[in-house]
Amino acid sequence: MALFDSHCHLVFDPENHSPQEQLERAREMDVGMMLCVAVDLESAIACRLLAEQEPDVLASVGIHPNDCGPQGNLSERLEALKNLAQTGGWAAIGETGMDFYRDNTPPDIQEKSFRSHLDLAKELALPIIIHCRHAASKVLDILRDQNRTVQGVMHCWSEDPKFVKPILDIGLHFSFAGNVTYPKADLIRESARLIPSERLLIETDAPFLAPQPVRGQKNEPAHIHHTLEAIAEIRGETRETLEQSTWKAAESLFSAG
Ligand SMILES: [Zn+2]
Ligand SMILES: [Zn+2]
Repeated sequence: MALFDSHCHLVFDPENHSPQEQLERAREMDVGMMLCVAVDLESAIACRLLAEQEPDVLASVGIHPNDCGPQGNLSERLEALKNLAQTGGWAAIGETGMDFYRDNTPPDIQEKSFRSHLDLAKELALPIIIHCRHAASKVLDILRDQNRTVQGVMHCWSEDPKFVKPILDIGLHFSFAGNVTYPKADLIRESARLIPSERLLIETDAPFLAPQPVRGQKNEPAHIHHTLEAIAEIRGETRETLEQSTWKAAESLFSAG
């Protein structure tokens, strides 16, 4: 049995937070697979390089909604994204989505980028990784516009539980990060009870959102067991059952590459 970290940023700060050392510590803690998620084209290339070297790392390609605004021409960047995505070696498209919490990128720019990622995911038949912060209603509208079953994941879910059902109906999975363990996170825990096992994933979103027992530290995949244990307790399942179901769900979603 092993743990699947469905969303981490191993190459975020390679000089001060070595990917190699994070991998070693993760393996000691039975983490069997890690999806290293891109936030821009440069990080996508770094994620893929790591995935080519390490059998337990997968890579995604995409531009983060907080990162698609200020730098350069979006249309050109989206064209470059498409070209890079077509070179292969990716388990998913993303992370993309909408973030109205941090407002450094105008909503219309985020939306254009998100829709373009959705089209690309469809074209390449890859699952999509969706970042959604204070934007669930807008994200749901955009997903409904696709008029299809969308394969992918709502990562680090922390929105209102009322959006869970309609998003499940579109076909998406949900992933929970360390913030599900925080004392004030009752609404996140409520969502975690609503997801069927075959659609439920876990993640660290490392280096962010370290779970409560290690809160304040730089997060990394080795810490994911805290999140697994918390969700098992919330759902009234054994750790072993949840470990197995989250592994199976993540493996079937991200089996491409
Ligand atoms: Zn995110
Ligand atoms: Zn992320």
